[in-house]
Amino acid sequence: MACFNFQFKLIIYLVVISTLHKSCSARKLFTIGVLFNEIPTQSELSLNDTIIRNNIIEKETPISLSSKVQLVSSTDIFDTSKTICNLIDDGIMAIMGQPTCATSPIIESTCKSLNLPYILTSWRKSSYEESPIFLNFHPDADRLGKGIADIIKSLKWMGILIFYEEEEGLVKLQEVLKLQNVKNTDSQDFIRVQHLTNGPDYRPIFKKYRNTTENNIIIDCKTENILPILSQAKSLDMLDIGFNYFLTSLDAHTVDYSSLNITANITIIRIFDPKSEELSSALRKWSLTAFEFYRTALDLKPNMIKTETVLFHDALTYLSAALKKLPYLPESKVNCFAEDLFSNGPTIINTIKYLDDLPTITGPIKFDEYGNRIDFRIYAYTLDDDQLIATYQALNETVILARTSEETDLAATSNLKKIKVIVGTRIVRPFLMEVANTNGEVLTGNDRYEGYTKDLMTQIAKIIDFTFELHLTEGNLFGEYKPDKKRWIGLIGDLLERRAHLALCDSTINLQRQSVVDFSMPFMTLGISILHTYPEKEEARIFAFLEPFHTSVWIYSATMYLVLSIILYFVCRMTPGDWENPHPCDDNPQELENIWTLKNCHWATLGTIMNQGCDILPKGISSKFALAMWWFFALIITNSYIANLTAFLTKANLEPPIKDAEDLSKQNKIKYGCMEGGSTMQFFRDSNISTYQKMYLNMKMQSPKVFEKSNEDGVSRVRQDKKGWYAFLMESTLIEYYVETNCDLKQIGGWLDTKSYGIAMPMNAPYRGAIDKAILELQETGVLNELKLKWWKKNRNETSCDIIRNKDKDENENDLDLARTMGIFLVLAVGVSIAIFLGVVEFLWNIRNISVEEHLTYWEALKIELKFAVNIWITKKKVKSAASEASSSSIGKEDNANKGDKKKMIQNFLHNASSFMNLNTTA
Ligand code: GLU
Repeated sequence: MACFNFQFKLIIYLVVISTLHKSCSARKLFTIGVLFNEIPTQSELSLNDTIIRNNIIEKETPISLSSKVQLVSSTDIFDTSKTICNLIDDGIMAIMGQPTCATSPIIESTCKSLNLPYILTSWRKSSYEESPIFLNFHPDADRLGKGIADIIKSLKWMGILIFYEEEEGLVKLQEVLKLQNVKNTDSQDFIRVQHLTNGPDYRPIFKKYRNTTENNIIIDCKTENILPILSQAKSLDMLDIGFNYFLTSLDAHTVDYSSLNITANITIIRIFDPKSEELSSALRKWSLTAFEFYRTALDLKPNMIKTETVLFHDALTYLSAALKKLPYLPESKVNCFAEDLFSNGPTIINTIKYLDDLPTITGPIKFDEYGNRIDFRIYAYTLDDDQLIATYQALNETVILARTSEETDLAATSNLKKIKVIVGTRIVRPFLMEVANTNGEVLTGNDRYEGYTKDLMTQIAKIIDFTFELHLTEGNLFGEYKPDKKRWIGLIGDLLERRAHLALCDSTINLQRQSVVDFSMPFMTLGISILHTYPEKEEARIFAFLEPFHTSVWIYSATMYLVLSIILYFVCRMTPGDWENPHPCDDNPQELENIWTLKNCHWATLGTIMNQGCDILPKGISSKFALAMWWFFALIITNSYIANLTAFLTKANLEPPIKDAEDLSKQNKIKYGCMEGGSTMQFFRDSNISTYQKMYLNMKMQSPKVFEKSNEDGVSRVRQDKKGWYAFLMESTLIEYYVETNCDLKQIGGWLDTKSYGIAMPMNAPYRGAIDKAILELQETGVLNELKLKWWKKNRNETSCDIIRNKDKDENENDLDLARTMGIFLVLAVGVSIAIFLGVVEFLWNIRNISVEEHLTYWEALKIELKFAVNIWITKKKVKSAASEASSSSIGKEDNANKGDKKKMIQNFLHNASSFMNLNTTA
């Protein structure tokens, strides 16, 4: 820095001042040997300021300070030891500085052999060797590493990629590497370590990780290499919003990143608070000293101040404070080749160790017995707005988070505004559909789509204030892990491989997915259910009344009827009880009569089975018994028929055969499937419940395949199978939609599980909180509900399926009744027709007989009898037929001799007719 060009002038000036001071006062002179790796350095400013203040401004101090500054090689140990010996010969009483790890041990061993205090302010491996003359103000590797690890843990990163430049870096990150063990997951991928070799072009290494799931990257490199490395990451789009970086360099804040236009989330660490009063006061003092003593105007900003500077400042503050407590220091008489020891070395170091409450820039300072600093702070900041994220307190190993979740969200969303957010999605009704291009316009961007997803994303983008672009995923899947390819496909793959910032569709949250991506809070709740179709209307079967009995039962019953009638006939003929006196008034009849003709037997059995009974009954014991047995048979058969008939006629109102998944799993007639590669399939595949395991095995073994590429294909398959032999397991939200839009579909049973849809995003996406809040707001203001209504119901112009189904149900029920009872009407009609036909035949036969008897022409007799028959007012008929009466009147005279014969003939006819009709023959 140009502002430190006064360095030379200053040294000469200081030597003069201190010499003058020494000569004109009684103060003891304490000379500090200072080792730097480069000159000029910021630390000199602090050194000179401390000396001037001690020697000139603070008049009461018993010690006068002076310094001997030397540049030491960072690698050459021999040269370093020579430099130190020269300094010791010049009378220095302590060594301070920032030597490298390579040269520090030689300095330490020289100081140890002479009892000379050695105060270090640079990083080195932790020392576990007791030393009375050594102190390191820089946090040692172990403790610094622990702090970094604890801060990273507090960031809740899943999966870390470590890029390190030098082996030393790995030493610092040992504690971070240990985080892998506390992770209770697929730990082999949790932390990956990558050496940045073959630089300075590290792009081939970055490329290796560009399309992998690692988006949490720790970079451990020299401060001067941060910018080139990040520029290379930028050229590969790896400084995009989905990435989280953690820079371990304590001077990362001094780099100018403005050329990179970073949207990634970068965390840097410091061991001092840039807003602290101590730093501001030190900066003021340094500027004042530079101005007052060297007329040089300095404009120092906290972001310019290196860690080594503030550590050097704090070390000087401690040393000068300790010297003030030990005013009677003897002069140093040591040199590298004599045996003398500097007797006050351990005392100075001990005094420093017990000093307290000094105005230090790097916070509280405490040391252990080995000289390692055990109390310090690590401050984690965001790079883009320099906001404090967390503070690590080394003494009690705690991390204090500095930001509320709101502040974190705000910071994250500010990055979202800088980019066009890519929202990965898939076409699935009614979530997202392609807009029909009606007027030939070429649609571009988001205008190509419509649906719930687009509307929901628009609302969220409005709340958070960002722009987005919908991006269809390959394969139209939300996410499935392919073990053979060792990668996720679908939208989850897009998120992991950074082709999308967010993924939104019917995106089901489940454990497997949540282990690789983050989900927002749910925007819809659902469960798996069964989609089925209403069975086709049953064909009207007019002989449904025959169905209660199997055909064989009908045949056996008819046969039994005939057989029993014949048996009855013979039994009646055999039993004496049924041979009766035809003329009861005649006590000694010449002959007995048996009324049980075949006709009567058939009539009696028919009457019984028809539940009608009969007015003649057998009188013999055996015939009575035979008929009783028939009654018993008739009783059972008739009642069984009636019971079955009732069930058959009401069959339409019975419950469907499948009521839930349990029923589905227990049968093989109805095939069932689900969408391939979706969360529904995963549910059955990974379930521990035996019913679902059984269902998955069943689905897997079916041929032809029961899995479908999409839910839409599944719905079509259910609809095409009119008989209802295919059911589809899908999410209730989509069932709801399809049942609403296709009136032939229905949901069977309830939900098999309960889950939700959420917006997926890369792990630790900084904008997750903001998205959650936006969803919550949309839920509370009822917008989520409105959107659901809009895409599930309102956008349909047709009549609701509920109305159509209710109407159909009413109609179906009536139709079915009529259809099933139609056969009975038909039998009645046919029977009555036969009866009419027989009546007509009887009538005509009677006319023929009359015409013969009365010597009339057939037509004359017909005319006369017809006239009589159609005259409904006549209810009585003379024994002599109407035709005979008419003919006698028309002929004039009747032969009386013939009268008796005719009467007898008519009586015979009536007797025959009545016996045919089973009437009482006593008439
Ligand atoms: N929503 C499902 C998923 O996120 C897809 C549909 C299904 O599996 O039923 O994978």
